[in-house]
Amino acid sequence: MRATRKAGFAAVTLAAAMALTACSGGEPGETDEPAGDGGTAAGGGGGESITIGVKIDQPGLGLQEGSEYTGFDVDVAKYVAEKLGYAEEDIEFVESVSAQRETLLENGQVDMIFATYSITDERKERVAFAGPYFVAGQDLLVAADNTDITGPEALNGKVLCSVEGSTSAERIRDEHSEGVELYPAQTYSECVELLAAGNVDAVTTDDVILAGYAAQAEYEGQFKVVGNPFSEENYGVGLPKENDVCEDVNAAITEMIEDGTWEELIARNVGDNFQWNEELNPPEPEPCA
Ligand code: GLU
Repeated sequence: MRATRKAGFAAVTLAAAMALTACSGGEPGETDEPAGDGGTAAGGGGGESITIGVKIDQPGLGLQEGSEYTGFDVDVAKYVAEKLGYAEEDIEFVESVSAQRETLLENGQVDMIFATYSITDERKERVAFAGPYFVAGQDLLVAADNTDITGPEALNGKVLCSVEGSTSAERIRDEHSEGVELYPAQTYSECVELLAAGNVDAVTTDDVILAGYAAQAEYEGQFKVVGNPFSEENYGVGLPKENDVCEDVNAAITEMIEDGTWEELIARNVGDNFQWNEELNPPEPEPCA
């Protein structure tokens, strides 16, 4: 994992301490993990940091307010990181917009991504995935009084907003582009602003994301999710293609589901305004490649 400057300094002092005492370990109060050179995610801790990509504008999933990060993805990330040996203060969250996720992982700018990130074969050519830990479905967000947009087959002549680099935009282009004008934005919050201003007729992405916007106080009563999902989006943990943590992340996800934390986290973050598909959730992680 990427060592911070602080961790680098700690490593030097730690090396000196080890020479004196021939004992491995971190600073007082830290976990007693072996202090390998750089370490792996599975043996984190010891003051090492982990950089995790999240969304920062998706209420209920990944939202930044000041220095606070909240949402289901953020909570799942914290749970998994802890199982890998990273305390909450060792996590550095960074924004990873949809179109940048593969690049951020390829360049080593993030160690992992928890960002409503669907597992797809195309993405697997560039990155690896642990999970899935949630299954959503693509849907449409429209004005509360809209009656003609009932699903992907009813978009003729409509202007739609979605996000560049998402499966949502790609599916519209590939399967439902007939008579549809697609506006590609960088973020879904940008799309929702366009919908609020009446500049687009609908926003399309995963139902759980859309429900989070519809429930925001500033948009109260303005929007509705159509409720006719037309895909299965398996949210995975994005990892570099070459990694040695996929199995450990899967083990953490399985434990999170079995110990009841998954249910608690999903209910707390999105439960007030969204009913997840109980037939598909919680999903079982797929074997790592
Ligand atoms: N889950 C879809 C994807 O990974 C849409 C949501 C997003 O863009 O984060 O492309």
